[in-house]
Amino acid sequence: MVDMTQLQALFGGTFDPVHYGHLKPVEALANLIGLSRVIIMPNNVPPHRPQPEANSQQRKEMVELAIADKPLFTLDERELHRDTPSYTAQTLKEWREEQGPQLPLAFIIGQDSLLTFPTWHHYETILDNCHLIVCRRPGYPLAMEQAAHQQWLDAHLTDSVEALHTLPGGKIYLAETPWFNISATLIRERLERGENCDDLLPRAVLEYINARGLYR
Ligand code: ATP
Repeated sequence: MVDMTQLQALFGGTFDPVHYGHLKPVEALANLIGLSRVIIMPNNVPPHRPQPEANSQQRKEMVELAIADKPLFTLDERELHRDTPSYTAQTLKEWREEQGPQLPLAFIIGQDSLLTFPTWHHYETILDNCHLIVCRRPGYPLAMEQAAHQQWLDAHLTDSVEALHTLPGGKIYLAETPWFNISATLIRERLERGENCDDLLPRAVLEYINARGLYR
């Protein structure tokens, strides 16, 4: 019998702010393939990059509010507390060292992030430490722009959920999660124009944003 209860996943991003396009595909994913927990890990944005509109503390508090009633999710603050750039490859290497060599681990990304993934620092080492699980996102192709990157993708693709649970890492899985046409950019633009965002993010997060006058 394959043990389908051990697979944990990290989910990184800026979360400026966290929204249903983050939460709902991942909840669906957990039901589809079985995930024991999902660790949301907001990144610190290095000083030379355009800064998020909400600061680290606020982005963290919004995630806390969003997941308060969702036991699937936990929060990891390690990247937020760094003043140096956080490289996913480095963070996943640390996470693997903490969890030991055998446990199945995954990193969750949206379809847009798969397309830019080969530009990430030491991207090719990431699969040494975990699987990559890709959630659908409307508006982005599934084919890589460069042939070499497509070859890299094809070499690691699996459609076996069992493989995700039995191997510690190394596979890429394109999950059939529902599509949500929501981005943090869209939410920031709508809030700036004073438009309704009720269907786009959890009520508690929206109340937090309104109470602080964020994204105005
Ligand atoms: P922004 O609009 O500010 O660029 P974003 O909405 O894309 O932000 P991020 O925090 O950058 O949010 O995303 C974190 C992760 O969530 C990324 O892997 C991204 O691909 C994924 N993601 C974000 N929105 C969606 C969505 N609607 N559907 C599927 N995945 C998503």
